[in-house]
Amino acid sequence: MSKIEECFNYFEKLFPEAKTELNFSTPFETLVAVILSAQCTDKRVNEVTKVLFKKYNTPKDFAKLEQEDLEKMIFSLGFYHNKAKNIIKMSKQVLEDYGGELPKTAEELEKLAGVGKKTANVVASIIFDEKVLGVDTHIFRVLNRLGLVDETTPNKTADSFMKKYPNYVNHDAHYRMVLFGRYHCTARNPKCDGCELKKFCKFFKENKER
Ligand code: SF4
Repeated sequence: MSKIEECFNYFEKLFPEAKTELNFSTPFETLVAVILSAQCTDKRVNEVTKVLFKKYNTPKDFAKLEQEDLEKMIFSLGFYHNKAKNIIKMSKQVLEDYGGELPKTAEELEKLAGVGKKTANVVASIIFDEKVLGVDTHIFRVLNRLGLVDETTPNKTADSFMKKYPNYVNHDAHYRMVLFGRYHCTARNPKCDGCELKKFCKFFKENKER
């Protein structure tokens, strides 16, 4: 069995349920939730969007909001000033440039305010099934620790992984990598004891192997 197969079999064994932990019910809500999730846990985003999306959940709703009012609603998520500014600007762009419908490719999504490559790729993959990988801090750490790629930034990691393992660019693989990084191969104190991937792991060899 190849290394990539072993890795993904193990991710699946640990996290058989591959799904996002963010809550949303429309493509537009997905983009807003992903923007809000920067530097913040999905759990906290869900607490805020549970209330927020009941009142506002379309580009029209957000475009009409005053920035200060949105800031108050998302204050607890951090970076609220920029997040509010970007969500309102992005909503106006969606209305003016795309007739109120979220554009359907990562390339176009990336043109919207506050939407970087990671966010664009995550949304295009989750909602529009595009074969792109949104590399967050968890995926970046996991893929580089395991030596599946050897890159210095999330964007380079995404490009390199896409080139080497295009068959592993899909929803389930994405969610499992995030869950593996969030709950098993954590930034601090990863669960290396008993980890079945330690034979491949650069981090383990450099830091824990005696
Ligand atoms: S051995 Fe440790 S650092 Fe390496 S993949 Fe497993 S948990 Fe992560």
